[in-house]
Amino acid sequence: MDVSEIIIAGDTPGVEWRLPVFRFKGTKPEAPRTYIQAALHANELPGTALLHFLLERLRQAESEGGILGDITVVPQANPIGAAQSHFGELQGRFDLGTRTNFNRDFPLIALGERPSLVENIDRHSAVDWLKRHLLSMALGAELVLDLHCDDEGLQYAYVDETFWPEASDLAAALDMQAVFLSDGESSAFEEAVAHAWKHESAGERRTSLPGRLSVTVELRGTRDVYPEMARKDAEGLYRFLARRGVVSAESHPLPAFGGVVAPLDNIEIIRAPESGAILFHKDVGESVKEGELLATIIARPGMADGAIEIRSPQDGLIVTRVSTRFARRRADLMKIACAETSRAARKPGTLEA
Ligand SMILES: [Zn+2]
Repeated sequence: MDVSEIIIAGDTPGVEWRLPVFRFKGTKPEAPRTYIQAALHANELPGTALLHFLLERLRQAESEGGILGDITVVPQANPIGAAQSHFGELQGRFDLGTRTNFNRDFPLIALGERPSLVENIDRHSAVDWLKRHLLSMALGAELVLDLHCDDEGLQYAYVDETFWPEASDLAAALDMQAVFLSDGESSAFEEAVAHAWKHESAGERRTSLPGRLSVTVELRGTRDVYPEMARKDAEGLYRFLARRGVVSAESHPLPAFGGVVAPLDNIEIIRAPESGAILFHKDVGESVKEGELLATIIARPGMADGAIEIRSPQDGLIVTRVSTRFARRRADLMKIACAETSRAARKPGTLEA
């Protein structure tokens, strides 16, 4: 294992950022190359914990000659976000300087333009410098995993429909309960990787990418950071790598993926009609029927008509829930994976800002 650091100049005097990168050299040139990162949203640590244990497992495999394909791991991908403690609270999702989501605005380039990402890198701000290095590393691989988590959530993933159902092995290995099939219409990290593959050279548009995978994995909720969970997830990820021929392992047949598969158009985003305290009646992982009570918003405490009931628009599985118990008007409260298309209009791209 080789450990190095990418050094990024800060945007103000006296500041620089250091990004540790772990690399394993594979013994089989034809084996897929893998890139895995965690905590691009700096407050989402389940992936960092997972990668700590996965790296331990990979070091062991390396000592036994079991690393077949090159593997690059960045366990904490966003030192800039991790430093944004604002009035005592970590602000890891948006860059405070530009109000840009750390997982948006990745350059949408053709794979052939990869070298340009890090050319004259000091012409870019620290955040763009970071994004360009992460994307450049990922584009050197065929398997790319970006580890995130939700507020409160099940184990699920956003998978570009181009990679489905081939990616069901990852969903099975990580014991996911749901997969959201996305349309690849955003500038999120995972989609910038897939964009480059689809457009290997300028003017080209590939619609199938066998053997490749770029995915955003949602490792439950922000508070689901526990040793047993992280070890179990690391084992799951190792099984996926073994199945794809990146590492060697005794083959344990993977069970078929049995979770819910829903295109983004079938995700009901439940919103608060008014502001107030949120009383949830249902938790993540529960299946609900159309019309079932999901939450009560206490909009006008103490008034006879002060509470508003929110009911499920259709049958489905509750995949995520916000962790705050105060809702602003129109705030997102839940994501429910359903069998039918949502009647609410959705813009192409990601579900959330
Ligand atoms: Zn995230």
